Order: sequence, then C-alpha cells, then structure tokens
Amino acid sequence: MITINENYLKLQASYLFSDIAKRVRKYHELNPGKDIIKLGIGDVTEPLPQACVTAWNAAVTEMADRKTFRGYGPEQGYDFLREAIAKNDFQARGADISAEEIFVSDGAKCDTANIQELFSKNIKVAIPDPVYPVYVDTNVMAGRTGEYENNRYTGLVYLECTSKNNYVPNLPKTPVDLIYLCFPNNPTGATATREQLATWVQFAKDTKALILFDAAYEIFIRDESLPHSIYEIEGARDIAIEFRSFSKSAGFTGARCAYTVVPTSCMGYDSSGAAHALHPLWNRRHCTKFNGVSYPVQRAAEAVYTLSGKQQIRQTTDYYLTNAGVIRNRMLNLGYKLAGGENSPYVWVETGADSWEFFDMLLNKAAVVTTPGSGFGRCGSGYIRFSAFNRYDRVEEAMDRISKALK
Ligand code: PLP
Repeated sequence: MITINENYLKLQASYLFSDIAKRVRKYHELNPGKDIIKLGIGDVTEPLPQACVTAWNAAVTEMADRKTFRGYGPEQGYDFLREAIAKNDFQARGADISAEEIFVSDGAKCDTANIQELFSKNIKVAIPDPVYPVYVDTNVMAGRTGEYENNRYTGLVYLECTSKNNYVPNLPKTPVDLIYLCFPNNPTGATATREQLATWVQFAKDTKALILFDAAYEIFIRDESLPHSIYEIEGARDIAIEFRSFSKSAGFTGARCAYTVVPTSCMGYDSSGAAHALHPLWNRRHCTKFNGVSYPVQRAAEAVYTLSGKQQIRQTTDYYLTNAGVIRNRMLNLGYKLAGGENSPYVWVETGADSWEFFDMLLNKAAVVTTPGSGFGRCGSGYIRFSAFNRYDRVEEAMDRISKALK
C-alpha cells in the first residue's frame, strides 16, 4: 500500500487568489463592461529589457548551429553568469561573495522552498507574520509543524510584524534555529536598516542559528543607506543564505532565472554538535535534483549586468516605483497609515476595517482589485496590499476612483 506524507493533510488550501478571482468574476457578471483595474497580483507588467532580449536571441541562434550548440550546462550555472552576479551584486557593494558561492536556478520560489531539505526535522523555525506563504507551507510539508489552529500552525515561532515595530520583527523570546527574513518585504513593503540586520546577524551568531534572507525585491531600494544584501553586514557570511531573483528586477517572471548564495563559511551542525559547511550539502542537493537553467535564459540574465541592461532595468524599476509613490501619496492624503511604496513595489495599508470588507468596498465602489492582507497571516488582518505592477495611467485612474469612493 502506498502511504502518503500526511503532513500534506495539514496544509490549508490557499483560497486567497482564487477567492479574489471569484469575487472579481461575480463583480464582472453583475457589472458587464465595467473596466476593472488590477493592483493585486505581484507579477510584473513591463516586457523584458531589450538588452536581455538581444542576448537571448543571440544565444538561441548559437543553439541552432552545430558548432556553437550547447547541451547540459553546469548545474550551478555558467561561469559567465555566476561571475557577473558575484562582481555586480556583491563585490561592488563591498560584500565578500565569490562566483563559486552562487547557485543559479529557475526561481527563488523553488530555492526558498527547497533549502529546508538541508535541515533536520526537529529544528525550531521562526517565520515572519505576515509572510510570503512558501516559507510556511514548505515547513508544514516537511513535518516541522503541528496542526493548524486559530490561523496558525502549532510548532512554528511567528515573528509579528506590525506598525509597532515598523514591520521589522523583534528577536524571538524563545530559542529558534532557522529564521526567515525578507527585505524589502512582500507583502508589507518594509525595509530593514543595517543596524536592524546587524542585530539579527549577531543573534544568529550567538545562537548558532541560520538566517534565510530573501532579497527578491532588493532592486527597488533607492535609499543608499539601506543594505541590498545581508552580506553587507559583517559576519553574515557565516550565518546566512541569501535568495535573489531576476523576476522582479528584470521582468523574468515568465523567463525564470534566480540564484541562491551559500557562502563556503556558512555552517550547520550535526547531532553531536560538529560543524558542517552547508555549501557542499546544497551543491549536492542542487546537482542531484536540478539540471540547470537554459543557456539562452542565462545569457539573457547576464545581459542584466551590461551597461544598457543596467540602464533599462533602472528605467523599468523607476517606473514601478513612480506607480508605488502615487499609491502611497494618494492613500496618505486620504488619511491612511501605511508602509512600503518607497524602496518597494508594494504598499501595505492599514484599513481600519476587515481586510475582505475593504477589498469588497474597493472592488464595488471603484472597480479596483487589491489583495486582502489577512491572506498573508494573522498580522495581516485589517490590511490590504497594493501592488505597483501596472501601467502608470491605470494606477492614476485607480487612485482617482479610490479617492472618490473613499471621500
Ligand atoms: N520571494 C518573494 C518574497 C516573492 O514575493 C516572490 C514572488 O512573488 C518570490 C520569492 C519568487 O520569485 P521567483 O519568481 O524567482 O520564483
């Protein structure tokens, strides 16, 4: 008899985006022809940068010729891309990361999900609330939690992110072994200062814990005082793994390319307390279960680091940040408290009402779709998330309608 992994039975069906779609469908049926503006989903709307498209096309042409064709590439990624990443994303910012510490993959979602395979089932996991749901669900699948009770899984340590701590979690009061952090944050749009990250790095060092740092949105940071990488903090190489993605930085949500940094000095411990480098463990996992990102996509990702690639990416991310600024300013002018919208494409608004009620009100009165904050965790109750991924004129139109509806 084939028995199943019963941890899967603990998982809560994620109704968030299907519930949104259902409500939007119903609104559409009742209001045929009404123009609906979507500021809900975190997917990009601008096309790939021309520099990436040119590099991708050139690589496809190489693949079409026997002399330049390439089959399986190195699982960890081609050197040309790993070197460009190490040089531009880390060394240029004073972070001591080398090309061999970069593992190229097809997404930060898979990497943040898969990394927990390296750790024992018995560790204590600390996860922010609200949160990108992948971190929670993959630990449920692995059996690191109990049942779901009162909107939370027993066994996890939830790090509450609220207006009281500016959406940057305080250190946990109970011992933890693995800590998920994400800055700039999805869904709150909050960022962490050097000092705040340094506190976490010190905590992880003192307690032999590991930080999993998701920096999928670092490209949106404009404030020069904010760190883009946890490795800009001294000592972080020994206690942190970082995840990055080309999805939001260069519009690769459909092209698929990301990377994970596992420094060679980053350690885990066996049951006797002996230290083991995590780099060879992740290398083993990656090479056993993954066969590399396609050559043309890696060439397209490499083009992100050319002069024209950098200029085009700056232009597109500036465009989204202008949208975020419009959302932020208009909601502030309407008297709402909020986070994000600066150094981040998300605006997290305290509604003073139930998340779903506020969502329904915006849909029914303004035909604008947002995301109810309660879908990201208990601390998201009463919030909605606006996404800046849309056309500028559509964002302006959405905020005009919302201003009218809320006044
Ligand atoms: N991490 C965070 C915080 C995200 O919000 C997302 C996507 O929305 C991802 C990772 C996934 O990135 P990728 O497209 O590389 O899988």
